[in-house]
Amino acid sequence: MIKPGRTTSIHRHLAGVGAFTTGVVGGLFLLVLVGVSLDTSRAQVLERSSALGSVLASNLTASIVFQDPGTAAELLNGLRTVDDVIEAQITLPEGDVFVTYRRSLLEDQSGVQGLYSESLSVPVLLDQEEIASLEIRVDLWPVYQQLVWISGIAFVLWMLGMVAAYVLSRVFNARITEPLSDLADMMSEVTDREDYGRRFSYGVNNELGSVVDAFNEMLERIGDREQRLRKMIVDLEEARDQAESAARSKSSFLANMSHEIRTPMNGVMGMIALLKQGDLTEQQRAYFETIERSADALLLIIDDILDFTKIEAGRLKLGRSAFSLRDSLGSIEALFSEPASQKGLALSFAVDPAVPEVVVGDPGRIRQILLNLIGNAVKFTDEGSITVTASLADPDKPEQFRFAVADTGPGIDPDDQTRIFGEFYQADVSLTRAHGGTGLGLAITDQLVRLMGGQVGFESEFGKGSLFWVELPLASPGDATAASFGDNDARRVSADKESARLERLTNPAAAASAPTTGATEYPLPNTYDLQVLVAEDSEVNQFIIRELLAKWGIEIAVAANGLEAVKAFREREFDLILMDIQMPEMDGLEATRQICSIQTREALHERCEIVGLSAHAMSGDRERYMAEGMVDYLTKPIRTEELRVVLDACLEKKQGVS
Ligand code: ADP
Repeated sequence: MIKPGRTTSIHRHLAGVGAFTTGVVGGLFLLVLVGVSLDTSRAQVLERSSALGSVLASNLTASIVFQDPGTAAELLNGLRTVDDVIEAQITLPEGDVFVTYRRSLLEDQSGVQGLYSESLSVPVLLDQEEIASLEIRVDLWPVYQQLVWISGIAFVLWMLGMVAAYVLSRVFNARITEPLSDLADMMSEVTDREDYGRRFSYGVNNELGSVVDAFNEMLERIGDREQRLRKMIVDLEEARDQAESAARSKSSFLANMSHEIRTPMNGVMGMIALLKQGDLTEQQRAYFETIERSADALLLIIDDILDFTKIEAGRLKLGRSAFSLRDSLGSIEALFSEPASQKGLALSFAVDPAVPEVVVGDPGRIRQILLNLIGNAVKFTDEGSITVTASLADPDKPEQFRFAVADTGPGIDPDDQTRIFGEFYQADVSLTRAHGGTGLGLAITDQLVRLMGGQVGFESEFGKGSLFWVELPLASPGDATAASFGDNDARRVSADKESARLERLTNPAAAASAPTTGATEYPLPNTYDLQVLVAEDSEVNQFIIRELLAKWGIEIAVAANGLEAVKAFREREFDLILMDIQMPEMDGLEATRQICSIQTREALHERCEIVGLSAHAMSGDRERYMAEGMVDYLTKPIRTEELRVVLDACLEKKQGVS
């Protein structure tokens, strides 16, 4: 920034320098002049008096020879007409004063007689022999008086000279400083407006001209660079837009694909569930169970991709409810104790007593984070131990929690350490081949933790083990608005599904391929006296639910969308409506809203309960469904065990009421 007034200051400065120089030189010159004039005037006065003394001395010879002081005194009195002489005295060689003359004070015009004076001595000769000496005191006051006048005039001239020099310097300096000032103004304008196309014209070939040429040259180069930069920015923006649009396409492609794959998978799993209920040999049942477990593992991978793409697209909403961290960790410990002990690993969980009983956050997502970290530890560790700890990250911050999972596994190569949180990245290919996995677990963990405002990291010594840690802010129940306590997982996770997840986490390769021998006990068909309406647009799902429920003696009514569901609800009394969330014409949430409103306004079929069917319920969805009036929800593919829980609850309520 050029400071305002800077040009004026240079201008003044130069004028000041001019005046000062003139003052010094002029002052010295005047001093010399005054000195020389003083010296000259003094010499003239003394010379004049000396000449007068010589004439007087030659006239005095006779009066001294004849010892006639009267004549000598008359001669000396003649000096009265001479202003320069104050005193005169004739002294004989013996030292006796012969005659003295002194000008009377009355005759002294200056009034300072004798203040500045000098004495002369002139010999009185007779035949070349000194018979007396004439001493004359000369008054120099007029000389000094004149000097004072001359000095006064010289001082005035000196002052006038300096003022003139200052004014003239300013006038002449303006020729240099004005273009400089214009140049500075233009520099500021160029800086402010970033207009590098401007040029300064000066037209004189001197030093300032060289500065101006250099400045114009600089502007030209900056202008060129600016143009190149602008072009580069445009290119970069284009490339960024393309990359963003490619990333968006990728995310939406993955999200759509996952969803689309899920739909036929639901059909496959439903059909497997139906087939398992038929008369099967033990071997056939074992095959079906392997198919089912593989399909489960596949679905969980698809869930991961769906989760990941939703987080990437910013569409994942976190739930918020009160839950017990100790209970959560207890259930995770129970889940992993079997696979850990099968591998001969010592698994231990420790919760710091400072950790409060109840905290507020998204229990499902926190569980997902811990499952991923502990699952990796169990998966990659072949011997030794796994230690899970939960504590306060900082004793002074009671709402900042730290979870740590330490294992004695293979550790992570320093080269891979910066990349393992990246999506689809797997550090050791041979390990991956042995243990399976998608490379998404840590990427999802990282994204979830960041979404929650926390941090995740690890320390690892290659060949010795790793310690993964997560720091999360979790509120205390007092801060929770509408927090519900009791359900540890926003998602309803059946034991079957959880064990499939566990198997995928700890040993996905086995989950996808290993045939299990020995069929699991299949629940015996029961019969339910329930009137059920199924609102579902997919014919495959309609078929599966119809077949599943037929096994339990339930004949269902079907509605292909929300509108039909509301119509069917009005026409007939049902005990239960299984309501798909996503349907054409009117979705399940709107239909539920309308049915609940009919129930309260018209007191129609008040006992009828609605259970949602969702393809991929996210955290927070459960609260949304409940808020609309549903009593529960099932995730597709529907599992017979979960369906039975719902039917049992419905039957119990019906029997209790009637
Ligand atoms: P996945 O486990 O499905 O391969 P993750 O994203 O969970 O994907 O992990 C990425 C990579 O980080 C793993 O493939 C593995 O190489 C490395 N890794 C993660 N946890 C551990 C661990 N506890 N010990 C050793 N390596 C690990």
